Amino acid sequence: MHVTEIIERRRKPLVSLEITPPEKGTSIVHIFDTMETLLPYSPSFVNVTYHQERIVYEEHEGVIKKIPRRKKPGTVGICSALAHRFRIETVPHLICSGFNRYETENALIDLHYLGFDNIFVIRGDPPPGFKEIPSEPEGHVYASELVAQVASLNRGEYIEQIEKGDATNFCVGVAGYPEKHYEAPNLAEDILHLKHKVDCGAAYIITQMFFSAKVFEEFRQRLIDAGVTVPIVPGMKVLTQPKQLLTLPRDFHISLPEELVESLRAAKDPADFRRRGIQWAEKLCLDLVDLNVPCLHFYTMGKAGALSEVLAKLQKKGVIP
Ligand code: FAD
Repeated sequence: MHVTEIIERRRKPLVSLEITPPEKGTSIVHIFDTMETLLPYSPSFVNVTYHQERIVYEEHEGVIKKIPRRKKPGTVGICSALAHRFRIETVPHLICSGFNRYETENALIDLHYLGFDNIFVIRGDPPPGFKEIPSEPEGHVYASELVAQVASLNRGEYIEQIEKGDATNFCVGVAGYPEKHYEAPNLAEDILHLKHKVDCGAAYIITQMFFSAKVFEEFRQRLIDAGVTVPIVPGMKVLTQPKQLLTLPRDFHISLPEELVESLRAAKDPADFRRRGIQWAEKLCLDLVDLNVPCLHFYTMGKAGALSEVLAKLQKKGVIP
C-alpha cells in the first residue's frame, strides 16, 4: 500500500521507522531484533537507507588498486526480508549519486518486479574527502530529476521509447530540511527546491531530524504558504549519549535547542543523560501530535531501546496505536 494511503487511513498519528543496513559482514539478525522490539508500537512503514559505494585506493605489492567499497550494502534485501518476515510496508531509499539514469531505470524495474510500491528518493552526499559529488555522465544532479524519472516510469514512459510500456506504481517520498539543507543559501530557496520535488511527483515529505516543535511548525507553515499540500512527516531521533551533542549538529547540520542542551549537560551520569533524552523526545512527540502531524518518524540507527521507552509512554497515554 502507498505510504500516502496508509497516512490517509490513519485514526491516530502513525509511527514509522528508518533503519540503516548493518555494516558488511554483520548478520541481519540485529535488524530483526530491532524490529521485534519496536513491533508492539505498530510501525506503519519502515524506510531502509541506501549507502553509496565509495572508491578507495589501496596498495597491494607495490601496485595501487582501485577498490569499490560499500560499507553498508543490502537496502533492497533488508526491505524484502522485513516485508516477508513482519508483513510490514518497507520503503527502499534510492539515491542519485553514483548512478546514471539507465542504471536507475533498471533498479526501478527490479523494485517494480519485486512488488515495491514505495520508494524514498534522495540525492546522496559527496564521498568523504570530496567537496562535491563526482559528476555521473547521464546521471541526476538533484533529487527532483530522479523523482521526475520515477514519475515518467509511473506513466509507462521508459528511456527508450517502448510502445505501451508497463507503468510502475511508485509512491515517492522526498527529504525536507526544517533548518534548511546545508548547501542552500537560505530556507526560502531550499523550500522552492523542495516544492519543485513535489511538483515533479513526490507524494509526501519526511524531514531531517529536529528537536523543537516550533521549528517544525514554522517549516510546515512556510511549505503551506509556498503551496505544498502533500503530507509532511516529522523525523526524530532520541538522544542517549553525550557525544551526540557534537556528532548530530556536525553530521546532520542541525541545531539543538538551548533548553535541551542545558538539561543534557546537567545530567549526573550516562543513565541520567539517557533519561533526559527520552523525556525530551516524549515531549517533542506530544507537541507534534498537538500540531496534528500525520506520523512520527524515528531515525533508529539500529538502536531500539530508548525509542521503545518513548513509544511505550506515548502508547500508555493513548497518543499512538
Ligand atoms: P536535493 O533535493 O537534490 O537538494 C540538495 C541541495 O540542492 C539543496 O541545498 C537544495 O536546495 C539544492 N537544489 C535542489 N534543486 C536545485 C536546483 N535545481 N538548483 C540549485 N539548487 C538546487 N543520504 C544517503 O546517501 N542515503 C540515504 O538513504 C539517505 N536518506 C535520507 C533520508 C532523509 C529523511 C533525509 C532528510 C536525508 C537522507 N539522506 C540520505 C541524506 C541526503 O542524501 C543529503 O541530505 C543530501 O545532501 C541531499 O539530498 P536531497 O535529496 O535533499 O537533495
